[in-house]
Amino acid sequence: MAVIISGKAVSAKIRESLRQEAALLAEQGVTPGLAVILVGDNDASRRYVNNKKKGCEEIGLYSQVHELPTETTEAELLDLIARLNADANIDGILVQLPLPAHIDEKAVIKAINPDKDVDAFHEQNAGRILLGNARFLPCTPAGIMELLASEGIDPSGKEAVVIGRSNIVGKPMAMLLLQANATVTICHSKTKNLPDIVRRADIVVAAVGRPKFVTADMVKPGAVVIDVGMDRDENGRLCGDVDFEAVKDVAGYITPVPGGVGPMTITMLLKNTITAARAWIS
Ligand code: NAP
Repeated sequence: MAVIISGKAVSAKIRESLRQEAALLAEQGVTPGLAVILVGDNDASRRYVNNKKKGCEEIGLYSQVHELPTETTEAELLDLIARLNADANIDGILVQLPLPAHIDEKAVIKAINPDKDVDAFHEQNAGRILLGNARFLPCTPAGIMELLASEGIDPSGKEAVVIGRSNIVGKPMAMLLLQANATVTICHSKTKNLPDIVRRADIVVAAVGRPKFVTADMVKPGAVVIDVGMDRDENGRLCGDVDFEAVKDVAGYITPVPGGVGPMTITMLLKNTITAARAWIS
């Protein structure tokens, strides 16, 4: 039976140290500020935004939530970002994705001042991650590296397989594992013999968006299995990309959904907001 890595517990520990860091900054008259922009009426997005706001309150950061209607134009959104870029009270700006189809996501991300891009999605920050010179680490992959560290798992020399190549999870995850000296393979929808490749892995990160995609027969005994997925099972219940019940009997370590990677993502966002505020004062 695998060790279950609790993102909730690791996250609570990191948030406590962030709370202390925020208190020290407050003594210097600095309150890190995060602005979150939500466009449209997506229930899941609204839930994520509320959790980010709650996370800020919990550790003593200032936050603003800008809720805009679906029919907001790209120009209006860019105008708000320009104002937040110029606002000295705001250290981090996050635009909740996805955006309505009439808005160009790339143009919006590019408009965020890279120094305030706490999601690390701006092409300048993505480039810096590739070069190993990151200003901010992207939240979900950074949270996963913290989860590995919390169990003393060093990726160096290990075979890591990342399933998924999105710009926000798969690609930066592969880069962080590579920088930690793992031998990394990225799988995607055109990968041939995917189960064979996954079976080689000492560390598997599943970021596919398909419920229970990783089955027990795909996992090497003792492997570390990290589940990024936030999917719905046949009964509409939240589940991950990994068949948790079966894989936990084969893996050495596994993250649950919920309570695994999810809580870490917001914690890393809070950490990036503090990093951004520090950069302004140093
Ligand atoms: P995405 O942009 O949809 O990317 C999914 C990736 O999976 C793509 O690279 C796709 O390949 C690959 N894929 C899809 N079907 C596949 C198949 N049958 N075989 C192999 N590869 C396949 O998704 P994402 O934004 O990376 O998110 C992935 C999952 O993580 C989602 O469930 C999302 O909700 C969740 N998520 C969770 C958090 C968190 O904080 N816990 C944060 C972000 C995302 P192609 O590139 O070839 O299409």
